[in-house]
Amino acid sequence: MPLDENFNITDDSRMTATIPTIKKILADGGSAILMSHFGRPKDGPVDKYSLKHLVKHLHELLGGNTKVFFADDCIGEQAKLTSSMLKQGEVLLLENLRFYKEEEKGDVAFAEKLSKLGDVYVNDAFGTAHRAHASTAVIAQFFATGKKMFGLLMEREVASAEKVMHESEKPFLAIIGGAKVSDKILIIENLLDRATDIIIGGGMAYTFYKAMGGKIGNSLCENERLEAATELLKKAATKGVNIHLPADSIIADKFDANANVSNAPSDKIPDGWMGLDIGQMACEHFNKVILHAKTILWNGPMGVFEMEKFQHGTKTVALSVAASTQNGAFSLVGGGDSVAAVNKFNLSDKVSYVSTGGGALLEYFEGKELPGIAAIK
Ligand code: AMP
Repeated sequence: MPLDENFNITDDSRMTATIPTIKKILADGGSAILMSHFGRPKDGPVDKYSLKHLVKHLHELLGGNTKVFFADDCIGEQAKLTSSMLKQGEVLLLENLRFYKEEEKGDVAFAEKLSKLGDVYVNDAFGTAHRAHASTAVIAQFFATGKKMFGLLMEREVASAEKVMHESEKPFLAIIGGAKVSDKILIIENLLDRATDIIIGGGMAYTFYKAMGGKIGNSLCENERLEAATELLKKAATKGVNIHLPADSIIADKFDANANVSNAPSDKIPDGWMGLDIGQMACEHFNKVILHAKTILWNGPMGVFEMEKFQHGTKTVALSVAASTQNGAFSLVGGGDSVAAVNKFNLSDKVSYVSTGGGALLEYFEGKELPGIAAIK
């Protein structure tokens, strides 16, 4: 969670997302010991990354009547003692797990120490499900079947992802955008075996246009991925998957919120100009494809939506996904920037599910087994 320099929480969505699970544990007669990481501390404890800054807000989110204790070490005598003295309905927050290097290393002995604090292991952290860390995966081996389980958030995340991956109603459309082809090659490749249509937008589209011999001016391009882009297009044709690239672009004379703008076909961008958003023809075409789909997976913006002049394409796609959802499609939006985009346009409750997992969701759709899920299943 992001904090400002005075340790005020600037976005508590990760915290609120897990409150229903904590409340269920308390309501069902349990007490909850919470363990989490926070930030990337390099070398042991630092005040900046202490979870003590979250106690007050956690107390408020739980309704104000729940006792919330804090242990300033996640293992050791104090953690043991406080957890053993917890009464029904009480909560204990442990200090940042990453103050120990053992957490990220997936150290078995460290995981075992953590496991001793509780009777049951509940994993509600889909955002870290792709990491085999001590608290997110390794710890599960110390709990018998029936004593380890998903939390409510994790359960919904996994159910939504599985629905799209394994039970997608056709046509299944994947909308992939963002800056870099290299980040998205594996997911596109995996989706070629499942999707009916793939829309490719955002900065990464220009690598595909260049690979096809187009002129892309100063648009974003990964020259070392031209071959990979050509390969993907060939594979898609062989497998009968329709790839939709933005026919036209909003172009700018510099990467700047106040740049001069114009329009151009995406394969005929003049020298000195760069494509920073999809154009009107692309918007209309993508809208049709989106409205036709019955299952939609969306990861990555269509342009530099952080700047007003280049947000139209991403906004249009977000509105189309919302409209298609209203017509009965199942839509899953995941990955930091597309989530930020649906939030920016106030459409998060108009899509079927907004995932809290960025890297985890990407790896899931790349076809990888996520350690956090496998450890429980
Ligand atoms: P990613 O993290 O790869 O999903 O990329 C998201 C970022 O890509 C956002 O910050 C966008 O501003 C940026 N982006 C999207 N389209 C373009 C574009 N045409 N040129 C440059 N950056 C872009």
